[in-house]
Amino acid sequence: MRALYPGSFDPLTLGHLDLIERGCRLFGEVVVAVLQNPGKTPAFSLEQRLAQIEASTAHLSGVRVTSFDGLTVRCAETIGADLILRGLRAMSDFEYELQIAHTNRSLQPQIETVFLATSAHHSFLSSSVVKEVARFGGRVSHMVPEVVAQDLARLFNLPFPPEQR
Ligand code: ADP
Repeated sequence: MRALYPGSFDPLTLGHLDLIERGCRLFGEVVVAVLQNPGKTPAFSLEQRLAQIEASTAHLSGVRVTSFDGLTVRCAETIGADLILRGLRAMSDFEYELQIAHTNRSLQPQIETVFLATSAHHSFLSSSVVKEVARFGGRVSHMVPEVVAQDLARLFNLPFPPEQR
């Protein structure tokens, strides 16, 4: 089966990566699709986010990385996905995710949304928390892949590796 894993990934965290790895084991193929959202100004450009995901998933043979704008279900149709994969961290994610899943199903009933519960030790992770910690010089090596930690240090003008701070 082919799963579409859509998101902003601004930037990719180890929580996202965990979901991608587990998605690969379950479905065989995961297409990670970075959303180009004209309503949001991302910290990282689309090219940077694609490069971060490509470098971090190079060890996984079932992963493809792409970008999209517009409707997620249209992206799913274009790539021939059987399902949309999303992660659930806590109750706070649930309402929002359920609303999107119902909307997508009303638009394209053939494509199911499948939720994976986040691994417990990644459940506190979000892209915004990571950016907040990095902005103030905190260590993020346990939250993001190394390539992302490097990009964050560059973004906030911090020395890398962090031991040099
Ligand atoms: P979006 O802006 O579409 O919510 P995100 O990049 O924030 O994009 O998240 C993409 C998907 O990854 C969402 O389903 C989200 O719930 C999930 N996700 C986010 N953080 C984690 C995490 N730490 N562990 C597992 N899944 C996560």
